[in-house]
Amino acid sequence: MYGIERVFRGTEPVLEMAICMDCRNKISKDLSKESSQRISAFLEERFDFEMRFENTKKWGGDEIEKWLDRCVLLKTPKEECRNFQIAAICRGGLMSIDLLPIMISEDASREMQKLMSKKTRDRLGDMVDEFFGQPSEFADGPENFSPMIW
Ligand SMILES: [Zn+2]
Repeated sequence: MYGIERVFRGTEPVLEMAICMDCRNKISKDLSKESSQRISAFLEERFDFEMRFENTKKWGGDEIEKWLDRCVLLKTPKEECRNFQIAAICRGGLMSIDLLPIMISEDASREMQKLMSKKTRDRLGDMVDEFFGQPSEFADGPENFSPMIW
C-alpha cells in the first residue's frame, strides 16, 4: 500500500509524489507530538468523517469527481480553489475508494502548517527536498506544499 499526493496550481499538476506506508509511518514518528496533537484536533473539528462515510457509500466508483469536488476540511468548492492537493491510497495499480481520495485546498493546508512546530515543518520540508532535490521553483518552495503525513 502506498499514498499518492498531487499538487495543483490551477488546473496544472505541478508536483506528485508516492510514498509507501512504512516510510510514511517512519516520518510520522519524527514529527513533534505537539504538532501531531494539534493537527488531530484540527481534523477532528474540520473533517466530518461520519458525513464523509455516509456520502462516499452512496457514490459510485465511476463518479470519482464527487470525491474531489470540495475541500474536505474547509468545504470550499473546487472551482473556488485556485491551488489544491489531492491524496489517494493505492495498492498495486488500483486506487482504494472509500473515505479517500480527498481534496485539500491550499487555504486548509496553510492553516494546518500554522499548527505545526518548526521542527515538524522542517522535517516535512526535508522530505520534500529528499524527494525532489532542491525545492523546485514550480512548487514555490516546500512551505507551500506540506505532505499529508497526519
Ligand atoms: Zn518506502
